[in-house]
Amino acid sequence: MIAAKYTQGTGLHFGEAPMPRLADDELLVRVEATSICGTDIKIARLGHRKLQPGQSIILGHEFAGTIEQVGRRQHDYREGMVVGIAPNIGCGHCAMCGQGLMNLCPDFSAFGINFDGSHTEYVRIPAAAVAQGVVIPLPESLSPLDATLAEPLSCVVNGQRVARLAAGESVLIYGAGPMGLMHLALALFSGAAQVFMVDVNDARLAKAAELGASAVFNSLRGSVREWVAGLTAGQGVDIVVTAVPVRAVQQEAVELLAPFGRLCLFAGLPKDEGKVELDTNAIHYKNLYVTGMTGGSPQDFRVALRVMQSGRFNLKPIVSHVFPLAEVRKAYDVALSGQGLKIVMAAERWVNTGKAAASER
Ligand SMILES: [Zn+2]
Ligand SMILES: [Zn+2]
Repeated sequence: MIAAKYTQGTGLHFGEAPMPRLADDELLVRVEATSICGTDIKIARLGHRKLQPGQSIILGHEFAGTIEQVGRRQHDYREGMVVGIAPNIGCGHCAMCGQGLMNLCPDFSAFGINFDGSHTEYVRIPAAAVAQGVVIPLPESLSPLDATLAEPLSCVVNGQRVARLAAGESVLIYGAGPMGLMHLALALFSGAAQVFMVDVNDARLAKAAELGASAVFNSLRGSVREWVAGLTAGQGVDIVVTAVPVRAVQQEAVELLAPFGRLCLFAGLPKDEGKVELDTNAIHYKNLYVTGMTGGSPQDFRVALRVMQSGRFNLKPIVSHVFPLAEVRKAYDVALSGQGLKIVMAAERWVNTGKAAASER
């Protein structure tokens, strides 16, 4: 089967990988749709701290598929079920795992990082994943092309929960890439009265406007602070989400918030960038809340699926490309070039439905 593989020290390569061999308590999933995440690109470029030199893994953690084979000792799943997979697996015995927060387990492992992921045709689902409830049957109404976006959306669900968005509030999002656009869509879905978007890329800002942003701003052309002051009569916004890994943005964010405002540091910064100085007096005098989060839990994943099933939520406009799985190399070429938005690969029968949706836009 064709696969996108990363070897620590050697880099990204494409080619045949052997069919996974299944243990009695595991599942084999045939990939229906899988998307490329910023994390995949980061690993392809820089490797990952959890990988040993020379270690090789198949990339990809965002996917939905059909159960092809069920291990002899697995009784809750059957062949032919269509499932989504929340890709983080916890150690199973720490305090965070005890609360179902596998994304906060200090010893978590994940598809496409510690073991083979989904940028291929078949994925082995380890027994621990099944036991932790991360293999979630999908309703027929949800296309795998949508369901593959449940994982990134679960992170956005987590981010907006910690930011405590309430109906009628105003939100400013830095970054109109796929994650920032998902924040926009979810904030509107959750009742934000106004969502403002900042980026340095006009094409992405145009997409944000198309998706319902109240106002968009290219920060290369002026002061975000003045822009926000003008939009809010000097009050500031209730929530700022930083969906770009830029330290200056984190510094600026506290200055844009209204009293009782919340800052969600959604994107992490590269480790070597050092610490960020924040204006703590702005936090003090305005009673601000500064928070962050990482990834999403299986529960967030279920929330993401319910949001997508509501029929009032559409992420299709942020999918810029749908490639057949066989063209995984082409898909990575586009992703590595930085063009496009969300890039999805899918089994042949889904490719045209995805492309049709893309051309309607
Ligand atoms: Zn992801
Ligand atoms: Zn744990």
